[in-house]
Amino acid sequence: MNDTSQAGTEISAAPDTPTRPRFLLREMRSSCATQRIWKWSLPAFAGRLPDGRTYNTCPSAGICKDLCYARSGTFRFSTVLRSHQSNLQYILDEPEAWEEQMTEELKHSRYHPAGSPAHVRVHDSGDYFGEGYLDAWLRIMRSTPGVVFYSYTKEVQLFEERVRPSPPANFHWRYSYGGTQDELIAPGHNHVDVFPDEESLAEAGYTSQAPSDLRGAYGPETLGIPANNIVHLKRRQGASTFRALQRAANEQKRERREKRVGPASRRPRAD
Ligand code: SF4
Repeated sequence: MNDTSQAGTEISAAPDTPTRPRFLLREMRSSCATQRIWKWSLPAFAGRLPDGRTYNTCPSAGICKDLCYARSGTFRFSTVLRSHQSNLQYILDEPEAWEEQMTEELKHSRYHPAGSPAHVRVHDSGDYFGEGYLDAWLRIMRSTPGVVFYSYTKEVQLFEERVRPSPPANFHWRYSYGGTQDELIAPGHNHVDVFPDEESLAEAGYTSQAPSDLRGAYGPETLGIPANNIVHLKRRQGASTFRALQRAANEQKRERREKRVGPASRRPRAD
């Protein structure tokens, strides 16, 4: 999918207060969207904020970090990256103010169109990087029942522990292969895998997300994304899916570990 968001309208602030955008959510400008979708973006994976702090917004990224569309192209334009970093800084520095502004913003009429609910994709880049941040989003979702939220995430353990037992009724999530927690994705869990192209996706019996990103929310259990048309990333991915690449990476890691310390079954037990 193509996305070319830029910094939005800024509101004025008191001299020592950072300037905050009037609207935190941006419209997804995507050729595959069939209706208006709003999005919340963080900078993808790891980096350094202008004030020197380092961050990692995708703590469970695996092989995906080397194939990540959100770490190349327009996402690296300085205005776009800076805007996403400002979003992250706001959460880190003033989590309560951020949550309050987001909750208030979602009352705006643009999120309550006549006829059908508005959709918000939480993260077109970045992920739920911590418990407190996830909990804030869950509160925002519960306080905004007229809006539908959806996410792709690699934070399988966090979601199984904190979301699945009692999810907000207006939240759809889907696990995304290519992360360090792939092995925790159980049969029957909605998931998405990235395929080299539409043909390989169809051959595997997956449904393509290409016609509408809302399939992330409403699509079947097995959803596939054809790789973005970014030449160097397509070359790096080759003929494999993210799931297969992660499985191979995990296997290599296990083999290296076994060479170092021996097979798990022969290691001395701690008790
Ligand atoms: S989790 Fe998503 S945004 Fe983060 S590095 Fe992986 S593909 Fe990119």
